[in-house]
Amino acid sequence: MSPYIGRFAPSPTGLLHLGSLFTALASFLEARSRQGRWLIRIDDLDTPRNVCGANEAILSTLDVFGLHWDGSVTYQSQHQQAYQQALQQLQDQHLLYRCTCSRKNLSDLDQSNPVSESIYPNICRDKNHPQTGEYALRLRTEPYLITFNDGVQGVVSENLASQHGDFILQRKDRIIAYQLAVVVDDYLQGVNHTVRGADLLDATIKQIYLHQCLNLAMPHYLHVPVITGAQGAKLSKREFAPAVNQQNSHLILFKLLVLLQQNPPSDLKHTSVAMQLDWAIQHWNPNALNLVRSIDITNP
Ligand code: GLU
Ligand code: ZN
Repeated sequence: MSPYIGRFAPSPTGLLHLGSLFTALASFLEARSRQGRWLIRIDDLDTPRNVCGANEAILSTLDVFGLHWDGSVTYQSQHQQAYQQALQQLQDQHLLYRCTCSRKNLSDLDQSNPVSESIYPNICRDKNHPQTGEYALRLRTEPYLITFNDGVQGVVSENLASQHGDFILQRKDRIIAYQLAVVVDDYLQGVNHTVRGADLLDATIKQIYLHQCLNLAMPHYLHVPVITGAQGAKLSKREFAPAVNQQNSHLILFKLLVLLQQNPPSDLKHTSVAMQLDWAIQHWNPNALNLVRSIDITNP
């Protein structure tokens, strides 16, 4: 068996909030409890959303919370060549096509779901649009079931074409889509265990399909619950969840261990971050989160 390699892959779109730190901690504990390596990759491809200084702030927060990573931090923006190679490989298999649809066209077509996360109706599949002009690259999907066994969420099984549809790998603005970048990078970095938030369960089906198309081994997946705030909304930078306060890091860490259902003994609360992490690595039990998709922080 190859040694465990895990990672945390934040997007530099803001500071770490309690929800992202919760995911980072789970990923760290899973890796360390299995004597694994734990890497940091900054998912900085979506340049319009990147926030200046967020990289440094994220890394310093991880550091304050004792979540020390192995090796040097990598940046997706430095891997463009690998993404282009993967696109070429898919192109050679005739799995890609040019799509000129706009978000607006698509949502006009589908009034029931104006947010356009709906299934693409394959308008451009056989149009063979010319290579001149603006287009996105979409991946053809087939109507078959993709099934995987998640470390926390159990068996997930979804139909690729009817529940996901043909999806974008390179946007019209030429930015490589997250789905492709994450698959290529996890492979290049030897990541064999992916621990992240359950909001990405849906993306996992698409990523597994990409692993298959590119003939890459698929990592083990473990999707931890997302932390929700008022009205069940996921804490997210878009919703301006407050950045974690670095002042009382040991108290926040203790709170996170409680949220992770690890039942830390109360006398651990006033000890150092390092001592709490030692305890947590030794006692880490992800099964305590089994089948939990979200945790409401406003409901203690
Ligand atoms: N960068 C993604 C995010 O911040 C996570 C990617 C992943 O863990 O696969 O939501
Ligand atoms: Zn189209």
